[in-house]
Amino acid sequence: MDSTYYSGLVDRALDGQVLDTSQYEQILLDPDIDLLSLVHAAYAVRTAHWGKTVQVHILNNAANGKCPEDCSYCTQAKTSEVDIEEYPMKTTDEILAEAKLAYENGAFRYCMVFSGRGPSKGRTEQLAALVSEIKATYPLEVCVSAGLLDDEKAAVLANAGLDRLNHNLNTSEEHYAEICTTHTYQDRLETLRAAKRNGLETCSGLIAGMGEPASDLVEIALTLRSLGAESIPVNFLLPFEGNELVEPTGLSPEYCLRVLCMFRFSNPSAEIRIAAGREFHLRSMEVMSLYVANSLFLEGYLNAKGAASNRTYEMITEAGFEIVSDFSANALVNRAEATADERPVEVNGKSVIKDLQDLRPAR
Ligand code: SF4
Repeated sequence: MDSTYYSGLVDRALDGQVLDTSQYEQILLDPDIDLLSLVHAAYAVRTAHWGKTVQVHILNNAANGKCPEDCSYCTQAKTSEVDIEEYPMKTTDEILAEAKLAYENGAFRYCMVFSGRGPSKGRTEQLAALVSEIKATYPLEVCVSAGLLDDEKAAVLANAGLDRLNHNLNTSEEHYAEICTTHTYQDRLETLRAAKRNGLETCSGLIAGMGEPASDLVEIALTLRSLGAESIPVNFLLPFEGNELVEPTGLSPEYCLRVLCMFRFSNPSAEIRIAAGREFHLRSMEVMSLYVANSLFLEGYLNAKGAASNRTYEMITEAGFEIVSDFSANALVNRAEATADERPVEVNGKSVIKDLQDLRPAR
């Protein structure tokens, strides 16, 4: 490809144009597209919308396991045999103490995740009270992931001051029944639409590497564009021994970067997040993902260990990016170094599970 190909991608993304699906597929698959030139083009779009900023998200796995759903990639599914630390919903005091830790550790956004199909009316009101209390106490953006929601429940959360609702599409409509049988793609779409109708920002992403063709990833990207998703977490399937779906397919570091680039060109102004699997699948090319995406998760994922926070902060600052936080980059690196956890994120090609100290750091 000559340079006009890459400059054309940038111009059309910045101009708000949508390409043909085959052109997005080409970004994922065409060996004539030079990776470095592609990342450089994606960087131009990234910086036009987000400068060199990086938003750090910290997850709170607020109710772990015991889920009646059968999402085959998930360690909390009823079908999973992964030995996770199960517990019911944490107390308000514990969640508030963890919000404080997340803020002090550099979180821009605090994401509370509750396993299960969806919250009852009572649980929704409990979540709303929690959101109000966190928003009143810490200058954090708050996101909740609690399963399927209707308009009434979305309104309760919106009225409590929730900034954003997370509900991932995960895969394409056609592929959905292969990864989950207890709810449908349509159920997930409806939840996102209910969130939008009630004034919530939406965070919705995917998991690449579940056996889907490249065209499915393009379909997800264009669906999220049409839904107006403000935030798109791009996950790469993590292998857990004991899950129904264990082995990721087709995830070379280069392919993962191409996936991130395709989401940047198709959703140019969205917050594109490097989510689960950034350490595991991007490997030595991880830093390149910052030139495309503008946010990431710190301190691991729901049940999977992630890289030590000091290592992640050093990667961000050494590459010249700016962490969005009330604290200086130096203060964040020093604080993270003082509590550095150097345990590996993988052993024998499988993801390492978080222990109770990782999951409940304020206890
Ligand atoms: S609904 Fe959520 S917590 Fe339950 S199995 Fe699916 S992804 Fe896991």
